Amino acid sequence: MTGKTHIMGGIASCSAIAYYYGFDPVLMTASGAIGALIPDICHTKSKIGRTLPLLSKVVSTVFGHRTFTHSLLFMLIMFLITAAYIPNKSISAGLMIGMASHLVLDAWTVNGIKLLFPSAIRFRLPLYMRTGSFSEQLVLAGLTIVSCYYFYELFHGRIS
Ligand SMILES: [Zn+2]
Repeated sequence: MTGKTHIMGGIASCSAIAYYYGFDPVLMTASGAIGALIPDICHTKSKIGRTLPLLSKVVSTVFGHRTFTHSLLFMLIMFLITAAYIPNKSISAGLMIGMASHLVLDAWTVNGIKLLFPSAIRFRLPLYMRTGSFSEQLVLAGLTIVSCYYFYELFHGRIS
């Protein structure tokens, strides 16, 4: 999936979880948008890869694309790091949700992801699609609608 779809995936999932579980919606969705880009550090041409080129080069050379950073092992390591160093629950949970949304969206593409890395087994969801395809545009539109819905629900009560 493209960076745009990943950002919207992080925002949509975080706005829904902030709504249902009472997290700070602004902190959580902002962290979710950042978290949703983190797994693609393995790709030097991705948004985060271009922001942190050196780290991206190292990760992509050592692991390749969509392997370690798209696995449960990576999620576990990131969970331990965020739990230890980020005291704000809305931020740490937002980062984790954003990363999880990235894995789900990439599992929905033709190549799938190596969720159980270092095992080489690829996971792919049914009705998978090509990155940048019309189907992805529909997913992006759907995620945008979900985000708007929850943002409206989160804020309209406070504004009026
Ligand atoms: Zn990815």
